[in-house]
Amino acid sequence: MNTYDSVRMAELLNGTGIYESVDDPAHADLIIFNTCHIREKAEDKLFSELGRMRKSLKGRDVRFAVGGCVAQAEGYQIFRRAPFVDLVFGPQNYHRLPRLLQRLEAGESRICDDAEHAESKFEALPDTRTGGPIASVAVQEGCDKFCAFCVVPFTRGREWSRPVDEILAEVTELARGGTREIHLLGQNVNAYKAMDGDGVDHDLALLIRQVALIDGIDRIRFVTSHPVDMNEDLVEVFGDVPELCAYLHLPIQSGSNRVLDGMERGHDVDAYRHWVKRLRETSPDIALASDFIVGFPGEDEAAFEETLAFVEEIGFDHAYSFKYSSRPGTPAAEMEHAVEESVKTERLARLQAVLNRHQEMKNKAQVGKIESVLVEGVSRRHSGEIMGRTSGMRTVNFAGSESLIGKIVSVQLTEGRANSLRGCLIDEECDRLDAE
Ligand code: SAH
Ligand code: SF4
Repeated sequence: MNTYDSVRMAELLNGTGIYESVDDPAHADLIIFNTCHIREKAEDKLFSELGRMRKSLKGRDVRFAVGGCVAQAEGYQIFRRAPFVDLVFGPQNYHRLPRLLQRLEAGESRICDDAEHAESKFEALPDTRTGGPIASVAVQEGCDKFCAFCVVPFTRGREWSRPVDEILAEVTELARGGTREIHLLGQNVNAYKAMDGDGVDHDLALLIRQVALIDGIDRIRFVTSHPVDMNEDLVEVFGDVPELCAYLHLPIQSGSNRVLDGMERGHDVDAYRHWVKRLRETSPDIALASDFIVGFPGEDEAAFEETLAFVEEIGFDHAYSFKYSSRPGTPAAEMEHAVEESVKTERLARLQAVLNRHQEMKNKAQVGKIESVLVEGVSRRHSGEIMGRTSGMRTVNFAGSESLIGKIVSVQLTEGRANSLRGCLIDEECDRLDAE
């Protein structure tokens, strides 16, 4: 979501005719930090990066702006920790950037805009979108779930869905510019609920069906989903919309019902099992990803082992895992039975060992398959190679020409590694390998 917001800020400012994006901060007159508040580490990073960046500019006169969720949560406090910052703005206010910057130009200093209006933001953003082969479109913002550990409802505001027609127009515009894969974004994307211009209610499943009808869109993904908002319709789209990639990111956080209860997630382990079963019945090759938090207050060794057992049972293709980070203002910050840092570190390592083993096993199990891959760019690891992702979101590196970037090609998977796969382009490279 932050990446999406940053892209939109750049589009907005480029469109003013006053600003132009540059690749190197050394050439910038304005530097915007778009920030994340989800864990304490992300927040600390802002202040160390601000200081480092300012020092690297060696006294050059540059304006600094801080946007995103740290800006929303800290507001004016940011000026106290980094007095050289000129502008602070929340994630719902970046459409006002041109106006806020004008006020700075007119001589105002230390402006803080942290009002919350998701609706007006999208209306005010430019219609023009420029994406590469893959582009994101925000469809839902905010969260009403108030999980005990999480700051999102406080920084991103209440749950809100963008109107259907606005989303379809944005996707159409991207498709016209050559985008082939769309990522529908939301903090709880599967809670999407909005009407189209004819007054017809749409949930996420119907929105996906509509996006799939847009000419040029060959692949669709959506992130992030909540188990409580899963429904049968959403399972069925995996079975009957070929454009929808066989990948679902469905965070569970813990495999212990007691911990899930303390987290106030609103569902138990069995509810999650149910959706995994239904998804695998409908789309047998679906890749499943999840999020985990270790060391939530009250998580004892037995509860943690339930998480390990659950991971073994489900066999996730990919996962993000974090140490619980106490966030001021959330109910969990006041809870007893905090878990010691050293225990969190040890549990995270144990969990990640299991998750990584599964990921590598799943990658190796792909070897021999022929997959469609949307070529995203040149490989970072292997010089002379290009890379892209399979429908299941696995990264594949393979020999091929850069002219294939933006195209969907057939690739035979030849080697599974911990974080990626290697493969060969079916028509060219595979024949040659056969001959050898
Ligand atoms: N809405 C999504 C997740 C959004 S936040 C959901 O509910 O699944 C992204 C991830 O950050 C969460 O899934 C969680 O694993 C992690 N996270 C959120 N707050 C955290 C905290 N206080 N400490 C550690 N991890 C946290
Ligand atoms: Fe945070 Fe997700 Fe829970 Fe909302 S549903 S409070 S975003 S973890």
